[in-house]
Amino acid sequence: MDPKVKELLDRIRETASTAGGVAYYGLDVAGKKAGEVWDVTKLRWKRTDLKADVYRLCREVGEIVYAAHANPDASTDKLDGLLAALDEKHETIADLTRQIEERRQARVCPNRDCAAAAAPGDAFCRRCGTPLRAEKEED
Ligand SMILES: [Zn+2]
Repeated sequence: MDPKVKELLDRIRETASTAGGVAYYGLDVAGKKAGEVWDVTKLRWKRTDLKADVYRLCREVGEIVYAAHANPDASTDKLDGLLAALDEKHETIADLTRQIEERRQARVCPNRDCAAAAAPGDAFCRRCGTPLRAEKEED
């Protein structure tokens, strides 16, 4: 293997172990209030956007790795920033997936303009009054 590419790959493995505490993407996971919760569709759109970002970032990483293989003097300065951005996107995607699953399991108002979270035992939406679907019966 090209020594420049090998060095690059070593550096990637090195940063992999230190990339733990990346900041979230502005999502307030803990402070989620009923009624302010995002609609699952919006969460999915956001996740789709992030996946497109991941695709673009991976392509840029690939281009840098190939450039280092093709030309040992090629700059690899952007690589660490790209990898950190990828870590952050992946964490946010995982977080969105968790939120989507939570929302899918929770009962919400069927009125699409409201979509407020329902408390257990509620028959009507506390915000708009729309009748709620029956709670899932336990079997
Ligand atoms: Zn409602």
